[in-house]
Amino acid sequence: MTRIAAIIVAGGQGNRAGTDTPKQWQPLLGRRVIDWSIDVFSAHAAVSDIAVVAAADLGAPRPGQRFVRAEPGATRTQSVLSGLAALNLSDDSLVLIHDAARPGIDAGLISALIEALSTADAAAPALPVSDALKAQRAGTLSTVDRAGLYRVQTPQAFRFGQIRRALISAGADLVDDLAAIEAGGARVALIPGSARLTKITYPEDFDMLARLLAPSGMPRIGKGFDVHEFEPGDHVTLCGVPIPHSARLKGHSDADAGWHALTDAILGAVALGDIGDHFPPSDPRWKNADSALFLKHAQTLAEAKGYRIDSCDITVICEAPKVKPHREAMRARTADLLGLPLDAVSVKATTTEGLGFTGRREGIAAEAIAVLAPLR
Ligand code: MG
Repeated sequence: MTRIAAIIVAGGQGNRAGTDTPKQWQPLLGRRVIDWSIDVFSAHAAVSDIAVVAAADLGAPRPGQRFVRAEPGATRTQSVLSGLAALNLSDDSLVLIHDAARPGIDAGLISALIEALSTADAAAPALPVSDALKAQRAGTLSTVDRAGLYRVQTPQAFRFGQIRRALISAGADLVDDLAAIEAGGARVALIPGSARLTKITYPEDFDMLARLLAPSGMPRIGKGFDVHEFEPGDHVTLCGVPIPHSARLKGHSDADAGWHALTDAILGAVALGDIGDHFPPSDPRWKNADSALFLKHAQTLAEAKGYRIDSCDITVICEAPKVKPHREAMRARTADLLGLPLDAVSVKATTTEGLGFTGRREGIAAEAIAVLAPLR
């Protein structure tokens, strides 16, 4: 069976993007720019081998990622050759060569490029030029016929042996990899490109791509649940509000079951695990920690994934202390911390009619639901 590989090229320093660190390491909706491409290729069942051409600060593969790292060359073309050498596949294998600065790829595009190679030597996404094209030479402006002109994007797909030989014999740094074979009369299939595939070049490109790639449409809903046991003490903390009581809640942090449940609801809505993943009880940093820290962090993570908290609903379950007199303070404190209008935050309290561990006054339970809306 023909092997299908991918090379993700991230050797450049990206000075035009106006960032201190290269653009491929910059965050975009919660992931580094380069991770968008690595994640899509890693998840594609047809892609057997992945080489990422990047400096060592790329780091090890993250969960769900699979790749070998290849050392960047002095030019982009040398970087691609470095990736081809790291893959070392047979000549009839297929290889998709992609710029890390184009985070907007998807599985359908990869499949379409592979399919196009069944009848072509090479394939690439391309967009017809739609603006008027002008040439200015020696002070004279003239109109360029745009018929047949395309803006070509990546990934560009090739047969392994053909592109490797062509890049070696090209000897120079090329504008893209197609340039190495097109002059030789290769059959090139252009498939529809898209604005999502725009290359990050200038600082404003980050904002434009964040808008294009942000999740759209449906809100996300998450649910959280938490329990803490009583131990000797004089007050409990619920939703950030100290409530006098004949016991306190036992826990590594301040044991605020209400905010712990809400933190888990927010993390759940964006599928980012649970509070224990982000703040392990074994970590001494979180000893006696204010749970406001956990809740704000969950909000930051959700926003990095493109979601804002729209509303939440917390239910505290206990026989004592009486929560109702403190309910408005708990709502106000939560709304204030999250920057939400008061009427977007609900706090309710109930008992279990003397049944179960809350009925026996052994501890407090809390449930929460959070609704997150796509950031616009
Ligand atoms: Mg807890």
